[in-house]
Amino acid sequence: MPADTGVEIAFAGRSNAGKSSALNTITQQKSLARTSKTPGRTQLINVFELSEGKRLIDLPGYGYAKVPEEMKLKWQAALSEYLQKRDSLKGLVVLMDIRHPLKDIDQQLLQWASDCELPVLALLTKCDKLKSGARKAEVLKVREAVAIFGGDIRVEAFSSLKGTGLDQARAILSEWLLQ
Ligand code: GDP
Repeated sequence: MPADTGVEIAFAGRSNAGKSSALNTITQQKSLARTSKTPGRTQLINVFELSEGKRLIDLPGYGYAKVPEEMKLKWQAALSEYLQKRDSLKGLVVLMDIRHPLKDIDQQLLQWASDCELPVLALLTKCDKLKSGARKAEVLKVREAVAIFGGDIRVEAFSSLKGTGLDQARAILSEWLLQ
């Protein structure tokens, strides 16, 4: 990891949630973070320097079934330590497929972030897969559900394919990066 100075925002999500696509869309790059149809491809932490001391951190996708249990536990320990100890970390973007959000591991992550008072932007990805009514209902449902974690968690629908939610996501990230 780079030195713990400046400001960074981390992106986390279950494998295949659309994290690489979201990173590419938000930063307007076509192949910054490799997108792949094979879940679990991003095994390393990728660091994108936006400008001096401003970074986006692409954390490895979690929860992929084929990863051995021992590796999952190691990853969880590393992730919780990173969230708790990283001074430059000013926000966490949690990517969840809008069709199946808030899996146990997502909830664990939201709880950790809330516990260390880290603001969260939860992006409900691939929202183009749902019709407008169902999409709105899902956003409301997730907003209601995350209230139990008690932290600063914003929830927005997002589509890398259609650009839905892109302006809101960029606005929130810019706000965090200004610190
Ligand atoms: P990652 O494993 O979380 O980095 O996920 P990727 O960004 O590689 O995306 C996983 C799969 O979901 C790929 O097949 C993408 O093409 C697809 N995908 C990602 N974002 C969207 C989206 O906004 N809409 C749709 N329909 N598919 C998407």
